[in-house]
Amino acid sequence: MKRLIPQHICALTPYQSARRIGLKGRIYLNANESPWINTVKCKHSNLNRYPDFQPYELLKKYSKYSGVAKENILITRGADEGIEILVRSFCAPNHDKIMFFPPTYDMYAVNADIFNIKQVVIPILSDFQLDLINIKKNIGDIKLIYICNPNNPTGNCFLRKDIISILKFIPQTTLLVIDEAYIEYSLVNSFTHELTKYTNLVILRTLSKAFGLASLRCGFVLSNTYIINVLKKVLAPYPIATPVSDIAVQSLKLDNIKRVQKNILKILNNKEFLVEKLKHLSCIKNIFPSNTNFILIQFFRSKSIFRYFVSHGIVIRDQSHKIGLKNCLRISIGKIDECQDLIAALYMFEGKKL
Ligand SMILES: *Cc1c(COP(=O)(O)O)cnc(C)c1O
Repeated sequence: MKRLIPQHICALTPYQSARRIGLKGRIYLNANESPWINTVKCKHSNLNRYPDFQPYELLKKYSKYSGVAKENILITRGADEGIEILVRSFCAPNHDKIMFFPPTYDMYAVNADIFNIKQVVIPILSDFQLDLINIKKNIGDIKLIYICNPNNPTGNCFLRKDIISILKFIPQTTLLVIDEAYIEYSLVNSFTHELTKYTNLVILRTLSKAFGLASLRCGFVLSNTYIINVLKKVLAPYPIATPVSDIAVQSLKLDNIKRVQKNILKILNNKEFLVEKLKHLSCIKNIFPSNTNFILIQFFRSKSIFRYFVSHGIVIRDQSHKIGLKNCLRISIGKIDECQDLIAALYMFEGKKL
């Protein structure tokens, strides 16, 4: 059997998603999902017919929402498919290289591994900002640069001037991909306005996080028409199931967008509440500033805290194995009672009164 499998597939470690890790509990703060159930419904009409390649109504709605023209949008099965299709479209296996900046979202490395693409890895600096000097030094023949902004799992945004400077110094043969999965939590940091200015800019978006539709699997690639048309050659013939586009269209109606915006404000308030309470705990070494719906916390001894949380039914995400993140855990911001529950558990851990 071993000879059946190519060496690079044999050597793969699959992405350790929250679902694959499979920890069970009462409160799930491990996948940066929205804690609120979405009430949008689907009609299940016309399932006998193949869907449109790119459902027009959804393109129209996302264009209106994002301010990006329809012809500059590709609808994908989640931002994850956006990450993958860029590699498949622009990188020749065993030849081309991608660059990314860990600790960051693991799927850039996982896709490079799957398609046998070389990886140039430039860790972010100790202040979690981009290492421009080393990026510039190694830019050479890089095909794709993945920047996660705001970054997962650190939660911060990169300096706008740093990203702009990369856009300015990269050659025309390099694409800069900005993964904006969490951008709704800090919209001023979006780069959609730069799309018309820089032809080698690509932006990834999703309905999985702030829109609360992680199980829908719907995302978007935003770029110039030339790039979008290349991706359209590679994308599967009927990628977006009709129930998916029906629900996505509903979620982008004005009243639902308003509901999403209210939920974003609630998350930001809950985050402030949580950070304020966490400040008084002596098991915590550092709480990193966050532009997202999660916070990264450095503890003194994260393993025992993680186990303690699990034993109390609270599931969070261990990040302590990642470069530069010793003793760090990532906690998604939930509903206010979930935040209170989390605080109560930590105060109990310390034998402290609330
Ligand atoms: C969650 C996440 C994704 C995946 O989004 P989907 O649309 O659910 O595939 C992509 N990038 C980052 C940084 C994420 O955190």
